[in-house]
Amino acid sequence: LRRNPGETEFHQAVREVLETLGPVLVKYPEFAEQKMIQRICEPERQIIFRVPWQDDRGQIQINRAFRVEFNSALGPYKGGMRFHPSVYLGIIKFLGFEQIFKNALTGLPIGGGKGGSDFDPKGKSDCEIMRFCQSLMTELYRHIGDHTDVPAGDIGVGEREVGYLFGQYKRITNRYESGVLTGKGLSWGGSRARREATGFGTIYFLEEMLKIRGDSLVGKTCVVSGSGNVAIYAIEKAKALGARVIACSDSNGVVVDRDGIDLGLLKQIKEVERRRLTAYVQEKTSATYLENGCIWSIPCQVALPCATQNELTAKDAKTLIEQGCIAVAEGANMPTTPEGIRVFQDAGIAFGPGKAANAGGVATSALEMQQNASRDSWTFDYTEQRLKTIMVAIHRRCHETSEEFGAPGNYVVGANIAGFLKVGHAMSAMGLI
Ligand code: NDP
Repeated sequence: LRRNPGETEFHQAVREVLETLGPVLVKYPEFAEQKMIQRICEPERQIIFRVPWQDDRGQIQINRAFRVEFNSALGPYKGGMRFHPSVYLGIIKFLGFEQIFKNALTGLPIGGGKGGSDFDPKGKSDCEIMRFCQSLMTELYRHIGDHTDVPAGDIGVGEREVGYLFGQYKRITNRYESGVLTGKGLSWGGSRARREATGFGTIYFLEEMLKIRGDSLVGKTCVVSGSGNVAIYAIEKAKALGARVIACSDSNGVVVDRDGIDLGLLKQIKEVERRRLTAYVQEKTSATYLENGCIWSIPCQVALPCATQNELTAKDAKTLIEQGCIAVAEGANMPTTPEGIRVFQDAGIAFGPGKAANAGGVATSALEMQQNASRDSWTFDYTEQRLKTIMVAIHRRCHETSEEFGAPGNYVVGANIAGFLKVGHAMSAMGLI
């Protein structure tokens, strides 16, 4: 705590992992001697830099950007860039720390990193977004590379932003280095199914959790927080597997559609027109808008937090349980508070933590890197099949590890320990790094 003052979210993420690692140190005492936990908690490198840019009125704006290169024991640093006004070092470090274990769980050769800026993309023109991305990359380019550090998208960073970032990287370096960024457009090195991957992957993980309990998604009522990249494709796959998704949200309110969320309309509003969710209720009479409403007050059997950290509290968790919720899968990173997780675990419902349940996005980014390295491009079906196989394997690994370490069905324990062991053994083999 004293070493990283004020980094609240980072403390939270580290505490959650450390609380589960006791049995690992009993089984592998060498990790204690090697100070493996302390080493993993310290990023290999942190870069903080100024991003000056000019807005459409000609005014000069200054933002701060970060890239935390956390751990490269398993491969190049890998993790997205987040553009949101709340971004500061503590958020990027929590995300980077989570990313180490998540990436290890995928079984693919990727290390952990994360980046972002306190830039607020809301209300900015395309040109402003482009100028900001170009300025950011003018510093970032010297720190990244397809064998070094491979950024991607996150909140506020989608295909448009990755395009501007990639264009500037290519221009400065004079290299068409496709594998330096993932989440690219399909015509310039992107992977089919990457856009869908995080949301689809979360539902595959959920399906496995339900299967092991002899249940399925068919006929289940779901609510999904957020209405961005992860939320949209979680809704799509949940519906495809027979669920009824009745609500989603953004940072201003909640949409409840008694006919079920109309995916075509949602995509048109969010992906094409880039409008707010209020536009949904203007188009659809079966829907109501709850301004500043809490999505977790809508009765459901399955809850899918897909917006942001700490969006689901203990109070929300109690409300969900009381109203019949039987499963939660985290599409977002650390959306449930530690107290909220405890409520779910005490109630014995299926709870899939983000570092396992939302690993499909980064896994498919690693598949994008594979395609780039072999100058190839796979079909949607093949890529999605690989995503599904990876998610089923992550679920199995977490489940088996939870049993092996005396906490059967506790996916928080399973994910943390399985991820830690993979990274810890690799670091151990490489000496004092
Ligand atoms: P998007 O920017 O596409 O969407 C984010 C959604 O969450 C929007 O609906 C946004 O509402 C809402 N939101 C963001 N911040 C807040 C906040 N502070 N309070 C309330 N609502 C908020 O991001 P993604 O869908 O890509 O990311 C969502 C989550 O999933 C994040 O936690 C991210 O780290 C995680 N994730 C994303 C992956 C990916 O591949 N994209 C991979 C793995 C995890 P509004 O528009 O009003 O801001």
